[in-house]
Order: sequence, then C-alpha cells, then structure tokens
Amino acid sequence: EQEKRKYIKDRKLGEGTYAIVYLGRSRQDSTQHVAIKKIKKQKEFRDGMAPDAVRELKYLQELHHPNIINLISAFSSKDQNLNLVLEFLPYGDLEALIRDVTHVRYGAADIKAWMGMLSRAIWFCHENRVLHRDIKPNNLLIAADGEVKLADFGLARSFAEPGHRMTANVITRWYRPPELLFGARHYSGAVDIWAVGLVFAELIIRAPFLPAENEVEQISLICKQIGTPTEENWPGVTKLKEYIVPSEVTPVWERSAYMGRFGAVGVDGVDLLVRTLALDPRKRITAHEILEHKWWRMDPKPTRKEDLPRGG
Ligand code: ADP
Repeated sequence: EQEKRKYIKDRKLGEGTYAIVYLGRSRQDSTQHVAIKKIKKQKEFRDGMAPDAVRELKYLQELHHPNIINLISAFSSKDQNLNLVLEFLPYGDLEALIRDVTHVRYGAADIKAWMGMLSRAIWFCHENRVLHRDIKPNNLLIAADGEVKLADFGLARSFAEPGHRMTANVITRWYRPPELLFGARHYSGAVDIWAVGLVFAELIIRAPFLPAENEVEQISLICKQIGTPTEENWPGVTKLKEYIVPSEVTPVWERSAYMGRFGAVGVDGVDLLVRTLALDPRKRITAHEILEHKWWRMDPKPTRKEDLPRGG
C-alpha cells in the first residue's frame, strides 16, 4: 500500500500480451518518471497470480545490472493486480530502430556497442543461473543515456537441475534454436545465445534473418541458410523427439559464405556470428566466451552510448 502511494499513473504507454504499461511519476519528485507494468488478470489464474508475472518479479528482484531493466518496486492494486514499477525507458526498442530505415542510420561501431550491451546482459543472466528465453530486438529497450536494457522476463526461469524437463515452447519463433524446434526438453543457456546471434544478424541486414511463417518452415529456413543438422555436425540430433528427417542435406555454410551479406562487421564479426549460430548447442559459443572474442578489440571501437542513434 505504501509503495503504491509513492506513484501517480499518467497515461498508457503500451499493451503487451499479459500486461498494460503506464507512464508514472513519483509523488515526491514529479520529474522522476517510471513505467508501471500492470499485470492483467488471467481467468485461469483467478486464485493466484499468473506464473509469468511471478517469474518476472522474482528474476528482476535478483538481477541488477546496467543492461537489465531495473525493477524499482512492486505493489498490488486494489483489484489484487500485480504492478511492477520499472525504470522508464523513453527511446523505444531496438526493433523500431532496425525497421526505421528512412530516419535511422547506423554502422558497424553502433552494432558493436549494442551487441556489447546485449552480451553483457546475457552473461549476467547466465552467471546468475537465469535463462531469459525471449531475446529479440523488441525486448531490448533504450534508456535516456543510450544504454540498451534487456526487458520482459516473463518467460525467464532458472537453469534446470540435470534431469529436470522444461517446456520446448519458448522463444519467439524466428529466434528459436534448432534444439527447441526439435522438441529438446533438456536445454541450456545456448538457447539464449542462438537468439543473440539472430539479433546480431538482424542488426546487420536490418531485416529478420530467419522469418518463417510456422515451425516446419523455421526448421527448413535454418537448414537452408545455416546448414542441415546431421549426426556428423550434431551427434545425437536424430534422437530428439521431434527431429524431422531432411529431404536434402545442405552442408553447414563456411564463414566466407556469410561475408557477402554480413561482411559489414568484418571477418572477426562474422566469426562471432557463426559461433553463435552453431547448430549443436554444445558447440555454440557461451556468453562468457562472447565477451572474450577478438572482435571487441578490433576497429572500429564500439560507439559511446551517448552517441548512439535512438528512436522517438
Ligand atoms: P510486449 O513485450 O508484449 O510488447 P510489455 O508488456 O513488456 O509487452 O510492454 C508493452 C509496451 O509497453 C512495450 O511495447 C513498450 O512500448 C512499453 N514499455 C514496456 N516497458 C517499458 C518501460 N520500462 N519504459 C517505457 N515503455 C515501456
């Protein structure tokens, strides 16, 4: 009740699948803006809070990092709805920037800065045993100082103990890794890394790299654009529950094949991209290894956050 009285709700900022987001102000200091995310009541969970909301609250309380959205407080409103008070991020998200080709120009140094921020956010999640499970440009919000912040922890969960099965139905389709498309129930941080790779690719070509209409097409796009998973390049893949026998096998593309479309980030950038998109999750680069990659030390240096392009 006390927490609730600290803020005044202004206007509605946006609406997602399970929440309505309002702009709020602190009662004490009306120049201090916050975002108040009011979790919608779901019929199925009438007698308790939606699991998505509980997860988001739990993980955001644990994770404090410059590249992860900051949870300021939480309260329940009179109708028993959960409200998350989050830092206000006024400059839209990376998806809007990527799409706005007429107004927003950016280059390799900007991509390097954004990828650095995303990689540090994911490293911090994984270091704290949290899987985000919904990385995509739309969940990367931009702060007033240019910092990119990972948001939307509604699908996050902790790393499972070995032997514990998890649902394969996570991550927005275009960013979903092959192990999930094949129905793997034991997976790791590598699922987030694949999505990081697809955000990287999308920042470069300014269009989604693997935009399939359904899951079957998602698998064929991966086979065509990256390579067909086989026992040779991914031991054990044919044993996965929903593995599909391919009609033809495309060999895994070499780094040189990526240079035409993704060469803007240089040979080392392409090397990092290819390592994030390894078909076998055990061979995929880890968040820690990403941060040690040679690309960060090469020219151009990442743009300073204050100088990064931002949306409206
Ligand atoms: P979704 O991920 O489905 O878009 P969210 O519930 O996370 O849903 O957010 C809905 C919308 O509210 C977002 O698209 C964004 O425009 C806005 N929004 C969410 N969080 C913030 C924030 N911290 N600051 C500013 N705007 C926000």
